[in-house]
Amino acid sequence: MNIVLLGAPGAGKGTQAARLIEEYHVPHISTGDIFRAALSEGTPLGLEAKKYMDAGELVPDQLVIDLMDERLSQADTAPGFILDGFPRTAAQAVALDEALGASDRVIDVALSIDVDPEVIVKRLSSRRTCASCGRITSADEGTSCKECGGALEQRADDNESTIRNRLSVYEEQTAPLINYYQGKGLLVEIDGDRPVETVWADVKAACER
Ligand code: AMP
Repeated sequence: MNIVLLGAPGAGKGTQAARLIEEYHVPHISTGDIFRAALSEGTPLGLEAKKYMDAGELVPDQLVIDLMDERLSQADTAPGFILDGFPRTAAQAVALDEALGASDRVIDVALSIDVDPEVIVKRLSSRRTCASCGRITSADEGTSCKECGGALEQRADDNESTIRNRLSVYEEQTAPLINYYQGKGLLVEIDGDRPVETVWADVKAACER
């Protein structure tokens, strides 16, 4: 099962990806997570990406495309994968199709998780991630993870002005991919402004259709 998750930052892609991993046992490939890991290791890739991430801008296409060509050539992606945060531009979508075509693979489904932008601003402003187990939660939980006791941290780019810029970058550069996948008959749109379980039921049904 080769899945693309579309949807604005904060729409719930990471949360649904975690369910998809349990269901399909395929790797979750999040370009944002790859950049954050590279940054915390202080690699040249991480330091380059930081310049764009801090401003809520997109990392240049060629850098992302080369990174993902390499990642998708790894053996663990052969049974399937969940792409979260990639592709984000038309050029990335075309490059993805080319890379997959070279190994006789295709995207099976593109899920667009839709949430009102003002709901997203609120969600992201209070989003927290457990530094220990990686669970995504909200500031309502306090400062430590209720599952493992790890520290709950806020992402550097989850502040209101950067969030608003990320949303406008999404509208301009990523939302057009909805038409791209619709044209290929791969798009399923899902209302993401509902409880996680309800959204998950639709995500699962879309993957099984
Ligand atoms: P995310 O965790 O998906 O919200 O991504 C965080 C940041 O990483 C984005 O705001 C971009 O700066 C960068 N990023 C992640 N994925 C991509 C991508 N496919 N293309 C360009 N930049 C990306």
